Amino acid sequence: MLPYRSLHEIREAINRQELDLPSLVESYLQRIDERINLNAFVEVFGKEALDSARLIQDKMINGTAGKLAGMVIGLKDNICYKGHIVSAASKSLQNYRSVYNATVVDRLIGEDAIIIGRTGCDEFAMGGTNETSVHGPVLNPLDTGKVPGGSSGGSAAAVAADLCLAAIGSDTGGSIRQPASFCGLVGLKPTYGRVSRYGLIAYGSSFDQIGPITWNIEDAALILEVIAGPDAYDSTASDQRITDYSRLTAPGAKCIAYLQEPLDHPGLDGEIREQMITIIEGLREEGYQVDPASFPYLDTLVPAYYVMAMAEASSNLARYDGIHFGHRTDEASDTRSIYVRSRSEGFGTEVKRRIMTGTFVLSAGYYDAYYGKAQKVRRLIRDKTMEILASYPLILLPTTPRTAFGLGTMGDDPVALYLEDIFTIHANLAGIPAISLPLGMHSNGMPFGVQVMTGSFEEPELLNFSKYMLEKFNTLA
Ligand code: GLN
Repeated sequence: MLPYRSLHEIREAINRQELDLPSLVESYLQRIDERINLNAFVEVFGKEALDSARLIQDKMINGTAGKLAGMVIGLKDNICYKGHIVSAASKSLQNYRSVYNATVVDRLIGEDAIIIGRTGCDEFAMGGTNETSVHGPVLNPLDTGKVPGGSSGGSAAAVAADLCLAAIGSDTGGSIRQPASFCGLVGLKPTYGRVSRYGLIAYGSSFDQIGPITWNIEDAALILEVIAGPDAYDSTASDQRITDYSRLTAPGAKCIAYLQEPLDHPGLDGEIREQMITIIEGLREEGYQVDPASFPYLDTLVPAYYVMAMAEASSNLARYDGIHFGHRTDEASDTRSIYVRSRSEGFGTEVKRRIMTGTFVLSAGYYDAYYGKAQKVRRLIRDKTMEILASYPLILLPTTPRTAFGLGTMGDDPVALYLEDIFTIHANLAGIPAISLPLGMHSNGMPFGVQVMTGSFEEPELLNFSKYMLEKFNTLA
């Protein structure tokens, strides 16, 4: 029966009575079993998913089903789903059960999406390989010797292996777009504040955004339409009205900028560079004005992001002390040793590294030199980006410097791994939306993404243009 690669296909098959929702869920469950080696799901909600499928199938027959009826999704294991464990891939939360729904979960279920399980990720969403998880690494379904990317690696792997139709991820510095790029999928990070963060386990609160990983733009747009919008539980969620994102039209913009420095970057794979140039030339042939734009702060992105993200992480993770939240040690003798031992036992190496670095950059003697400076750099990055966007509504750049890494090859050098985020963190620092489109296939057999960024709350234009891009340049179909 599988694979279905869009909600539209599923709906059509249901309408033609060739498919019913319970059997669709059955076939996903069977496929999850067959591809258990990928470790994409940390937990599967089989019975629940089947129960919902029956109910939603009835609603579809009665014409009362929601917008997402027929969509079977994976939920990243750092988003709260009431009554279910949410571990953030950490020993410290391994047995923690959500007592409420994240706003996105309420909205997804409210429109009749079926959540089939929780997908693996890096511990507290910190990483780019999915190897820092307490549940073990997730494998890339396109080559099981490679990583699926991270931190939403389980989400991308689950979709790419047809274990569910779409998945929800979170993106602090690229964690939706980089795995989408590594697995040949669409990954959308909305504008900061477009989607409520209520119920997302916080990593870097001034960067975190929830978004979809899908096969196509229509499904990404529809999911965004459902999950976006104001939320009384998150004061950083914008009050700006949401548009009908799923009503896609021809793109309006005719001027596009591509960033020169990323293309000239010595770390960029030659074939990815060539494909970027092919696409730029193709767009020109189609009548677009595509101009280079200089972004002189490229080399400041990684240091600025990691100073700020680690600072925010060190503060956000203070609550996992064995008393308020998180794993509690068995071997404490007093209050202090509860804290020290619980945290030492509960967190993995990368998370500890970030908490310590983050605490350091926030400490009285170093605040101005690191955190304060990073804030100023962030302002420069944002201003320069806004300046480019004032003349060009869309900006093109690669998603990642290269294709998926081999499993276990990035382990020893954290800075080398941080540098791999160079193209994705730009949008997080500037707070703007960005999407990775599966528009490249490397001669090494692995896919890669092309990234498009646009101005804050310009998701409609981003989605319209993305649909056009996929139709025009899709090399993976
Ligand atoms: N790889 C980046 C980091 O480790 C991004 C992670 C994310 O977006 N959650 O911080």
